[in-house]
Amino acid sequence: MALGGTIASSLASAEARGITPSLGVANLLASIPAIETVAEVDGVDFRRMPSGDLTFVDLVELAGRIDEALHAGAHGVVVIQGTDTLEETAFALELLVRTTGTVVVTGAMRSPNEVGHDGPANVLAAVRVAAAPRSAHVGCVVVMNDEIHAARFARKTHSTSPATFRSPSAGPLGWCVEGRVRWTSSVRPLADVGRPVVARLAAVAILRLALGDDARLIESLARLDYAGAVIEGFGAGHAPARVVDALETLAQSVPVVLASRTGAGEVLSATYGYPGGEIDLLHRGLVSSGALDALKARVALTLALAAHDNRRDALDAFARVVASVTHE
Ligand code: ASP
Repeated sequence: MALGGTIASSLASAEARGITPSLGVANLLASIPAIETVAEVDGVDFRRMPSGDLTFVDLVELAGRIDEALHAGAHGVVVIQGTDTLEETAFALELLVRTTGTVVVTGAMRSPNEVGHDGPANVLAAVRVAAAPRSAHVGCVVVMNDEIHAARFARKTHSTSPATFRSPSAGPLGWCVEGRVRWTSSVRPLADVGRPVVARLAAVAILRLALGDDARLIESLARLDYAGAVIEGFGAGHAPARVVDALETLAQSVPVVLASRTGAGEVLSATYGYPGGEIDLLHRGLVSSGALDALKARVALTLALAAHDNRRDALDAFARVVASVTHE
């Protein structure tokens, strides 16, 4: 299922100011003859756009198409898209796809115009992973630069490097080498977020806290009609004491999730006792993102809110998803 992105981008004309997603999936597959030795592949042009233009509505539709393909007998599905939002779409697909089967999301950091275009190698590795026998739950994974990353942990960490995708909290699940797929660890299935109703999809804001912040942005969030908010706090989930009242007030009107701006590790729950420490913030009604980073917490909260018609059930579903990211 091709969605566009750098992997499908070229110069539309000699005068064009830059590359744009313009190539179809047939073009890409034709450049990878070795794919035929790995699997029988059906290419679908689902969208042709920069990944920053994708929406949750697109992803709900895409997940439906993936479910149909898996029901129809596909062993796995490869989603080929822009890398800019890939970490969010992969995690959304892990929550949205309901049929057992491997879903692999990949893309490229260098376009077909550039020397060292990484698209064909990434797609070939992705097809190998999607076609590989499953001995444990695989769910949705990101395959780039011959590494396999769990959707829940994968992050784009560099603006141009082909080695941009990493799992800072957990490391990769495995890799591809000499045409083989190697697994070194596995994850368990995520809890069911529910079935999002497209008409109920509503925007959730992310707000990153920074040194010296006051409460103005938090107070204005309450007036902007967001369905919820994710606060990217300092360290293990902390905020300046001067904004805690505003956060508590916000949490009384919409669900507010507390994440860490560090990009790895967990939000704590029982260590720091000062005003604005995680104990205080959780006590004031914020909800922990656990080991999910802010982008993924936003995905989970958006889908949970669209799947349930009341705040309590949505937050329960969100909390179950958070709890299922890791296991004892
Ligand atoms: N801007 C592109 C996109 O996300 C970058 C990429 O494909 O990697 O669609």
